[in-house]
Amino acid sequence: MPDPLPNHPPTHLPPHLPKFDLHSHSTYSDGLLTPDALVRRAALRGVNVLALTDHDETAGLAEARATAQEMGVTLIPGAELSVSWEAHTLHVLGLGIDAANAELDAGLASIRSGRDARARRMAAGLAEAGIPGAYEGARNYVTSERLMSRTHFARFLVETGYAKETKDVFKRFLTPGKPGYVKHAWATLTEAVSWIHIAGGVAVVAHPGRYKVSPTGMRRLLGEFRDAGGDGIEVLSPSHTPAQFAEYSAYAREFGLAASCGSDYHGPGESWLDLGDLPDLPAGVTPIWSRW
Ligand code: AMP
Ligand code: MN
Ligand code: MN
Ligand code: MN
Repeated sequence: MPDPLPNHPPTHLPPHLPKFDLHSHSTYSDGLLTPDALVRRAALRGVNVLALTDHDETAGLAEARATAQEMGVTLIPGAELSVSWEAHTLHVLGLGIDAANAELDAGLASIRSGRDARARRMAAGLAEAGIPGAYEGARNYVTSERLMSRTHFARFLVETGYAKETKDVFKRFLTPGKPGYVKHAWATLTEAVSWIHIAGGVAVVAHPGRYKVSPTGMRRLLGEFRDAGGDGIEVLSPSHTPAQFAEYSAYAREFGLAASCGSDYHGPGESWLDLGDLPDLPAGVTPIWSRW
């Protein structure tokens, strides 16, 4: 008779794989949780490897690192860099960066530097459309003096009843052609990749499915990114449908880029996916963590 209580792990189950979530935000950019609370939540949700990737900012990493150590989570220091490419704004994740690197730090400061003037112009556009006080209103949602984003305007516009929910606000007020949208020059693609590399990180195109480019444009973008030394594509993202998981896996293989996965978590009630809520990477791609 077989032993009903085997004292060894069952051999028919796959070995435990670490759970990776390589894209998240804290109060140091437009997230709702402090780095401490974010890392605790990730740990409770079974995330083993978490990247904090605040927009154009690394100031939250020290706090995140301390909590990660306490909770037994591996913290990947990161940032999500705003980039202007052709007529588009792209986001490039730097993963495994040394936040103390002076060139990266100066690069991030230069990206952040235009944000306040941009916010004032956004508010002026909204005022013209009959929404006064948006700059001050959005400021009430800012949690780091160093960074004001469209998300803070979105929260203000929802609170004041101009839109029902965040998605709606972007569509009606904060995207190209709408009253609160302002064209802005961010870093170039080559600058972003080189700052990330100088700081010892790997560069990943975030949520490629969000960019309004044709298939030809996507190939041009990924070709330029790879030629600039770029390392990976975010294949699993809440911005993607399951069909796009497969589509961007195919692009990753075609361009010799690794694959990444991230929830892009911004906080309770504001995100499509919670921390760690991601399927496994599709078969046949090289995980980005094999590059560090
Ligand atoms: P910014 O860097 O100031 O242009 O703000 C970009 C941020 O706005 C993104 O990181 C998202 O957090 C948020 N965002 C952009 N588009 C949308 C959208 N359609 N729905 C919800 N949030 C969005
Ligand atoms: Mn954001
Ligand atoms: Mn993004
Ligand atoms: Mn993000």
